Amino acid sequence: MLGFQSKIGTFALMKELEPKIRGRFAPSPTGRMHLGNVYAAVQSWLSARSRGGEWIVRIEDIDRQRSRPEYAEQLLRDLEWLGLGWDGPVEWQSRRSEFYEAALGRLAAEGRTYGCTCTRAQILVSSAPHQSDGRVIYGGHCRPQGMPRVVAPPQERHAVRLWVPDRDVEFTDRNFGPQRVNLARECGDFVLRRSDGAWAYQLAVTVDDALMGITEVVRGADLLLSAAQQIYLFELLGYEPPEYAHIPLLLNAQGERLAKRDRAESLDELRPKSTPEHVLARVLTPAELALWQKLK
Ligand SMILES: [Zn+2]
Repeated sequence: MLGFQSKIGTFALMKELEPKIRGRFAPSPTGRMHLGNVYAAVQSWLSARSRGGEWIVRIEDIDRQRSRPEYAEQLLRDLEWLGLGWDGPVEWQSRRSEFYEAALGRLAAEGRTYGCTCTRAQILVSSAPHQSDGRVIYGGHCRPQGMPRVVAPPQERHAVRLWVPDRDVEFTDRNFGPQRVNLARECGDFVLRRSDGAWAYQLAVTVDDALMGITEVVRGADLLLSAAQQIYLFELLGYEPPEYAHIPLLLNAQGERLAKRDRAESLDELRPKSTPEHVLARVLTPAELALWQKLK
């Protein structure tokens, strides 16, 4: 009898622990959505919804100079128009500083961070541009000897950098397959808080994905390298990283990545003369479009 009861108990516990799929769309409110943003949003929505998962919207408005509340509002109205409903309240990064502060405090206490007083010009001079795409990799000018170790922050204005070890981060992207990234060579010590006090993208995104229980991240392939930085941060903060599925970037007629300046592909232009079906048909396969019809 006891054995029977305990089996039921185990089963109930397993049901509860069954990981729930939780995806997210995390746009920056710096302009009107264009087809590239629509593509990322709908792919992430389809991925979560087609497996009975939740989908949340997080407004990444930590860049106070470029973000505008009216763009965020418009973005939410555009998602509604596209039939991409979300779960729970919309999250705003600008209201989550306390969580980023706590994570940074923890990394600092473990001796993983240091203050960097370099100006942009100094960094350009002392750093090696990465061969393949010209990315600038910080040369470690301000890095104290013998990291990781706790170091007092400099008195003057400084950015906070994360010391990264000379080792590979490995992960398997759902679309791009196995990835292996040497953090020291490919990223260098990266910024967690800028010298003007603004939170850096990598820290905010990792903390949010961790605390919001995100299990899968579907986003543009320009962020594939960021996944390695974020996985390393997940590890340091003691969280399980989500599964990553990076999707190809959409190109304009000139073969360049779609950007805010491609007005013709912006919802500003497309929405008044089109239906959600027509807009989505431009970025989805017929099978994906049928799935969206079924799930919305
Ligand atoms: Zn420096």
